[in-house]
Amino acid sequence: MNAASSPARSQSFRLMTIGASGAGSFILALWAMQSGFGGQIGGLPSELVGAVISALCALAASLAAMSFFAGVDESEEYVYQETQIDKLTGLKTRTAIVGLIATAAARSLHDGRAVFLLDIDIDRMKHINDTIGFGQGDQLIRCFAKRLVENLPPNTQVGRIGAGEFAVLLSDEAVPPRFDAFLDSLMERLMEPYQLPSHLQSVSVSMGLVAMPLDGNDPIRLLRHSNLALQSARANGIGSWSVYSDEMGKVAEYHHWIESELHIAFERGDFDVHYQPQMNLSKGDTVGYEALIRWKHPQRGMIPPTEFIPVAEETGMISLIGEWVLRRACTDAKHLPADCFVAVNISPIQFGSRDFVQRVRKIIDETGIDPARLELEVTETAMMQDRERAAAILCELGEMGISVAVDDFGTGYSNLSYLIDFRFKKLKIDRSFVARMENDDNSGAVVSTIVGLSRALGVRTIAEGVETEGQATLLRAAGCDVVQGFLFGRPEPLDFAVPRRHENAQPHAGPSLAMEPEPRPRSAAVN
Ligand code: C2E
Ligand code: MG
Ligand code: MG
Repeated sequence: MNAASSPARSQSFRLMTIGASGAGSFILALWAMQSGFGGQIGGLPSELVGAVISALCALAASLAAMSFFAGVDESEEYVYQETQIDKLTGLKTRTAIVGLIATAAARSLHDGRAVFLLDIDIDRMKHINDTIGFGQGDQLIRCFAKRLVENLPPNTQVGRIGAGEFAVLLSDEAVPPRFDAFLDSLMERLMEPYQLPSHLQSVSVSMGLVAMPLDGNDPIRLLRHSNLALQSARANGIGSWSVYSDEMGKVAEYHHWIESELHIAFERGDFDVHYQPQMNLSKGDTVGYEALIRWKHPQRGMIPPTEFIPVAEETGMISLIGEWVLRRACTDAKHLPADCFVAVNISPIQFGSRDFVQRVRKIIDETGIDPARLELEVTETAMMQDRERAAAILCELGEMGISVAVDDFGTGYSNLSYLIDFRFKKLKIDRSFVARMENDDNSGAVVSTIVGLSRALGVRTIAEGVETEGQATLLRAAGCDVVQGFLFGRPEPLDFAVPRRHENAQPHAGPSLAMEPEPRPRSAAVN
């Protein structure tokens, strides 16, 4: 309730109070003067001194009363602004949106008409803030909020409920007939780059959806559920949205467990690095090894990196873990054949950290690895966070003699213009394309196009996830340089990751490949 609508603070009530306090002070002053002063004060008649004192008292009391009421008005308005309106975006606050969800849930329970709660989050907002600074981070959030509102049906309730997180309440009537198409196009719009004062900022976004009354009516629970759906969407990859299901609660519990265990596991030494060979498809020899982290939990056994790396990224533990893997791989490289490189996965969080290049340099100095034997696998997503900065980092790494492979190529951004600005040595074709190559002509076409693109750019191509001879044959025909997959060798601990020559990677006399001389057998042995 604001000041104007409170009967206790109506106009006449204020006048009465101010008048009463003034009159009261006046009477009090008269009484004090009469009882205390007698005939004269400092040569002036006591009546005059009394009149001045009482007038001043009345004035002071009136001002005090006025300022009291004005103060109440202000503080109430202030409290309203503070609790209901988000200062940064002008949208509703979390508190306000909780109230609105409660109202909407009660209404939908009553009339049976669905209301949807959409949780929208800018991925890795904390990391973006760390990279571009809070000033520009705020600017990004403002631009994002504005674009969000512009792309929602009119009169939709929107609130900011986290740093880069927004809650949207959509009533059944406001929802377009094709809800999924609406969400897809909203996602597309929100992921278009944002012009900030110093650069164009790309963001990825995740969304989670719950429906009232179906998924409950408690606002806090509904927000938790929409957030679980959001997290599940985030795990599905860039620009995904998910609808809440009960199964998500269990996943969240598991995430929570991983989060609480990661530190202990690191201290306890649960982690290890396995190496998977990468073969030259035409010569048939091993040219490098990808270092892949492994977590063996004493009770739960092996926990795949796809399950704990995202949690490590969310909690920031990835910096510690990633650096450990890099140091370990650079040390282990001594035990791999001297003409083989070691490829290390770099998380977007590591890549985006301010001192990334210095950290890499330090590890190179400490381990003494020849930088030419180090390859960093960086995803498109990591590089697209801040293109200018990424281009500068790739340049620095190149100058140090380190090569970079673009990992999971083809799954991230459709805009390929960045390839021209970036300095890298390899495109690593994502295994989803390789997996479908044999049965899906389109995937084959994508692979051939990537190979052609690499050639045009003067870089090499590596295909990951090669499991069958048929895939190897198709990749060879497409002109792919290097392959990696279970067909050629699984990731193994250093002691077993021996260099080998695989018959599936033999040269063939196809028209697209020049015959190469037989490779000299490797002499280096693994310790
Ligand atoms: P990635 O970098 O794309 O690594 C390749 C993944 O494909 C590995 O899974 C590997 O075991 C798997 N793979 C290789 N050949 C085949 C095949 O023929 N068939 C199939 N189905 N899979 C194959 P892994 O080790 O589970 O790692 C998954 C992802 O986790 C990696 O994808 C990478 O993104 C991440 N990761 C692994 N180790 C690290 C690390 O040390 N640091 C960071 N930041 N991420 C890591
Ligand atoms: Mg990789
Ligand atoms: Mg990959």
